[in-house]
Amino acid sequence: MIDVILKKGKEKAVLHHHPWVFSGAIEPVKGKPANGDIVRLLNIKGDFMAYGFYNDKSRVALRLLEWDEGVTVDEDWFCRKVAVAVAGRNDLLSSGETNTCRLIFSESDFLPGLIVDKYADHLAVQVLTSGMEKIMPVIIEELQRLLKPASIFDKSDAASRLHEGMETSNILLAGVEPPGSVEVKENNMLYNINIAGGQKSGFYCDQRDNRKIVAAHAKGKKVLDCFCYTGGFTLNCLNNDAAAVTSLDSSASAMETLRENIGLNKLDVKKHIAIQADVNKQLRVFREEGEQFDMIILDPPKYAPSRSALDRASRAYKDLNRLAMLLLNGGGLLATYSCSGAMNMETFKQVIAWAALDAGKQVQFINQFCQPEDHPVRSSFPEGEYLKGLLCRVF
Ligand code: SAH
Repeated sequence: MIDVILKKGKEKAVLHHHPWVFSGAIEPVKGKPANGDIVRLLNIKGDFMAYGFYNDKSRVALRLLEWDEGVTVDEDWFCRKVAVAVAGRNDLLSSGETNTCRLIFSESDFLPGLIVDKYADHLAVQVLTSGMEKIMPVIIEELQRLLKPASIFDKSDAASRLHEGMETSNILLAGVEPPGSVEVKENNMLYNINIAGGQKSGFYCDQRDNRKIVAAHAKGKKVLDCFCYTGGFTLNCLNNDAAAVTSLDSSASAMETLRENIGLNKLDVKKHIAIQADVNKQLRVFREEGEQFDMIILDPPKYAPSRSALDRASRAYKDLNRLAMLLLNGGGLLATYSCSGAMNMETFKQVIAWAALDAGKQVQFINQFCQPEDHPVRSSFPEGEYLKGLLCRVF
């Protein structure tokens, strides 16, 4: 195993078990570890610090795996981490209300670069680091042993693979080709998922708890679900006796699946309007038409992919929220989210306060949202916390 030396003064994060070491924090590497090899990280005095995946193509040159020198990071080590992560989802799945969730969440489950989502009997994986790519045959075998899935499909089409110098990939890894439409259950609602063709890995299961909380406020209300995708919030609100729900998304295929999902749950189509449009444009159209709502949900895609994009993203979030506030009846509810890791809750609250001022409104924060238990946040890796939201009453 090749030794990599940490520069003087860079020990703190490693000692605190942060799993990333940036390329600028290490001395020129002697020997030639291949990308994805496991190396030993030593401090400048030669003391052991951690084992980790090496990749000289990535800004994150090392992804740390193990801080105990006496523990061997071998195939067994990876199988143990997979088994622990899968077992951690038992409580969530055992209720029978939900059969789709994230089984493995990368660094937050001690497996840097591995994401595994469960869709009923099918698994979708994303492999985002070269180290994880090398160990994938072992991971696949362990997933098969533990879960006996009908299929394991590779959905590694994330841009982050390119940062690691890896090509995107979209292939069947094990089992039979998943059908074009897989039926899953979440909060006792049914959804058709297109694993091979859907966005990301097909479904945004990180909003599971929040859909329930929001829907609890929907009874009798006229709801607008912006960035609805295949209807996560829409279905829960209709199921909870919303008076009417308008769903907005720019994706034709998402809207198509949303219509299927309404049928699948035998919900009242007469109470539902689907509009395929750009949210920013359509909110302005509603304003011109004098359309008002009792509750608006804003679940936009990630506006700030990095910290440097935060200022610009904050302005986009502010503008979006300002427009939504203007469309609410007095005392109406705004459920607003940001899935940008770079935006923390404090900043998000400031953005909403800023939007309220611009809209000439007063806002009460009546609830705060976060990501659910199958998207854990590791205390040594705050970067894993990305989803936040606010339930606001707007006057
Ligand atoms: N709320 C959804 C998940 C939203 S994901 C759920 O509960 O499942 C973000 C969605 O925003 C995607 O479906 C994408 O198609 C849509 N989108 C992105 N930019 C958009 C825009 N400018 N106008 C409308 N929809 C947009």
